[in-house]
Amino acid sequence: MWKTAEYTGWGRFYRAKGELARPERASALDRIAGEAPCPAIGQRRSYSDGCLNTRGRAIATDRLDRMLGFDEETGVLDVEAGCRLSEILRFFAPRGWLPTVLPGTGFATVGGAIGMDVHGKNHHHVGSFGQHVTGLTLHHPDGRREVLPGDPLFAATIGGMGQTGPIGSARLQMQPVKGPVMMVTERRVPDLDSYLELFDTTEATYTVGWIDATATGGNLGRGIFEEGETGAGLVPPAKRGKRIPMDAPNFALSGPVVRGFNAAYYRRIPDRGRTVVKPLEDFFFPLDKIFDWNRLYGKRGFHQFQCVVPLAARDVLREMLTKVSASGLASPLAVLKRMGPGRAGMMSFPTEGYTLAVDFPARDQAAEMIRRLIAMATEAGGRVYLAKDAFATAAQMDAMYPERADWAALCNGLDPDHAYETDLIRRLDLRAER
Ligand SMILES: Cc1cc2nc3c(=O)[nH]c(=O)nc-3n(C[C@H](O)[C@H](O)[C@H](O)COP(=O)(O)OP(=O)(O)OC[C@H]3O[C@@H](n4cnc5c(N)ncnc54)[C@H](O)[C@@H]3O)c2cc1C
Repeated sequence: MWKTAEYTGWGRFYRAKGELARPERASALDRIAGEAPCPAIGQRRSYSDGCLNTRGRAIATDRLDRMLGFDEETGVLDVEAGCRLSEILRFFAPRGWLPTVLPGTGFATVGGAIGMDVHGKNHHHVGSFGQHVTGLTLHHPDGRREVLPGDPLFAATIGGMGQTGPIGSARLQMQPVKGPVMMVTERRVPDLDSYLELFDTTEATYTVGWIDATATGGNLGRGIFEEGETGAGLVPPAKRGKRIPMDAPNFALSGPVVRGFNAAYYRRIPDRGRTVVKPLEDFFFPLDKIFDWNRLYGKRGFHQFQCVVPLAARDVLREMLTKVSASGLASPLAVLKRMGPGRAGMMSFPTEGYTLAVDFPARDQAAEMIRRLIAMATEAGGRVYLAKDAFATAAQMDAMYPERADWAALCNGLDPDHAYETDLIRRLDLRAER
């Protein structure tokens, strides 16, 4: 049942070698949970070490991917934890339903979306993924346990990075959808102030912004603001999938190449803006069509820095962007968004504020830059996202996650041998009872 494998998170920076099991039935998950308790992992779309257990065991849930039942009256879907969100979208959108929250990749599984309490482009309206989970099943050494909202174990599990044991299945409150397409309005935004103004005043259901992290001076913070609504209409052909065939050489994402690319990408949108109709998947999961795009960063991999800072910390955001653009280290992938207050777990990332995410090829200077950005986010009363983090310190965690110690006590009571720990938990000493 156990096979030794070398594996990584999406950023391919941290690596693990350990034994993986791939149970196909809930009964097999019960057996493993009883005989060899260890963390469960999904599709390893977390960028860093949250889905790694070096020299230990982990349960890969990719074969536990069945949809178990759907109540058309209530819109509640009962689904195994290894099911990918893209599969749920593909099956249910033509039938008039969507998962209420979708992160930027459809490869994420239900278990992974719960484990990181993921957020989507509608976070400012509907909150986080876990707020739409109406129940879940944990597989513990002494048997299965149904957990419902209101139970402290539920709040420890949502965003709990797998530390309360393997989730076998969950019930999700889906939302009715107006139609099978997305109407997307795209506009150029000339600078950071105009950008934040748009986020503060938009009434659109879905919003997201690409930001040119290489722009400086008066152009600092320029980008493309997208507002989306589902709608009825003919589904346009989806973009064809492409594959990155090999690890790219280092110069592929050098400063001048990225600056050139970003300037052209920005100008792609006409001055007056435009509205386009897209298949839902192209809007929600824009990068999924480029399989293995993480190979563009070469063998050494890459990092994503993602933080959220309070609404009042606009200046910190500006300072961060100034540092990033001056460094010449950013890749084209950079996203800005406003978050609402919604969160469902003790360790959930979302909190009201602006969230900035920037990818950097893994280099020593990038690591230094990210450490500075993390310190700035901490000082501003913000936090970094543990699905992405590679360089925060244990000391920063208590400032960022005020419920961490209570959460750790709850996990340690349930799992005194620390069998569910992953590399991320050990790196940041997240289960220390300080
Ligand atoms: C292109 C891209 C875009 C993204 N966009 C967003 C975004 O917009 N918003 C956002 O919030 N995130 C985003 N992410 C991050 C991603 O959604 C999360 O990291 C998510 O957790 C990945 O799901 P996964 O199934 O790959 O889980 P993994 O990465 O494998 O695991 C994540 C965590 O969940 C735990 N876990 C997984 N399955 C189970 C289970 N069955 N039982 C118990 N614990 C489990 C693991 O132990 C681990 O701690 C993005 C990632 C990529 C690559």
